Amino acid sequence: MKTEIALLREMGARRPYTDSRPLEIVEAELDEPGSGEMVVRMAAAGLCHSDLSVINGDRPRDMPVALGHEASAVVESVGPNVTRFQPGDHVVLIFAPSCGHCVPCAEGRPALCEPAAAAAGRGALIGGGKRISRNGETINHHVGVSAFSRHAVVSEASCVKIDKSIPLDKAALLGCAVLTGAGAVLNSGDLQAGQSCAVVGLGGVGLTALLGAIAAGASQIIAVDLAADKRGFALELGATHAVDPNAPDAVAELRELSGGGVDLAVEVAGAAPALRFAYDVTRRGGTTVTAGLPNPKAELTIPAVSLTANEHTLKGSYVGSCVPVRDIPRFARMMLQGQLPIERLMTHRLGLDELNEGFERLAAGEAIRQVVIFD
Ligand SMILES: [Zn+2]
Ligand SMILES: [Zn+2]
Repeated sequence: MKTEIALLREMGARRPYTDSRPLEIVEAELDEPGSGEMVVRMAAAGLCHSDLSVINGDRPRDMPVALGHEASAVVESVGPNVTRFQPGDHVVLIFAPSCGHCVPCAEGRPALCEPAAAAAGRGALIGGGKRISRNGETINHHVGVSAFSRHAVVSEASCVKIDKSIPLDKAALLGCAVLTGAGAVLNSGDLQAGQSCAVVGLGGVGLTALLGAIAAGASQIIAVDLAADKRGFALELGATHAVDPNAPDAVAELRELSGGGVDLAVEVAGAAPALRFAYDVTRRGGTTVTAGLPNPKAELTIPAVSLTANEHTLKGSYVGSCVPVRDIPRFARMMLQGQLPIERLMTHRLGLDELNEGFERLAAGEAIRQVVIFD
């Protein structure tokens, strides 16, 4: 079948993207879904910083690629051997599908599925196939999702069914921002009611981590970002304090505020200095979780003895250490009950043809979560 996709031909376009227009909306051909695959019609798709990292080349991918990885959709048709879905089902797309059989999957850590990571690295679906082409040229899938497309062929392993009462625009954010942000706090960080938490980096994922900390019942939630307007917004959302990491003695200020450091510091800025800051404001015996994706060449330096002497835990969190079939419905219920008011993070609604404007806004720090609404 024919559909429209947002095609990225090469990385590293010059800004402003409103002039260089790295994403082109083109007609493409979708092959029939293979075994365990299905055709979905996108409902909504979020613009995430890791899409921007592909556009600017920080996270290199094979080109050309049909970009986008955070979406909600409706199942249009199912291919052979699809057992868990039928046409009309509402789904959230998962950019970290799982095979169910590799070692991480067997250990209950599906976000680390090895065949899924290998397939994503090749621009293929988890089953190995590529189903998008244009004038005979094969186009890569983006982490098995390719969300900025009117229709996509996806593996059923890349989908989690949601209740039809959940608004599809908000549901899109469950697939990346909420899993990654709220998951970093609630799963990886295991934040308990009454504990203190700092969130370093207040983009869409960071603010979702902040909402997760509020939902967990943290006694103190300290928002950290270079941008004053983002710190202000975090206070409006419910942070108890805000700290400018560039202020003189910012580490000492935060440690003072929290009586010696926070129980949990979550870094979501994707930059090594931000991670070091998070590490430095964690109390003795506390935990630092990093969910940011810095440039692959970035390195972190910490005093080696601090891990032992302070029993400091430093922990990575990929997609919020999520188990999607458990966490998507859980976070969706929290969203419906007002515990994760992620609609407050939705700053812009776009048409598919406004992606370049949207990514320019994201690169300029002028938006939190922008969502493409498909009609
Ligand atoms: Zn994302
Ligand atoms: Zn696996």
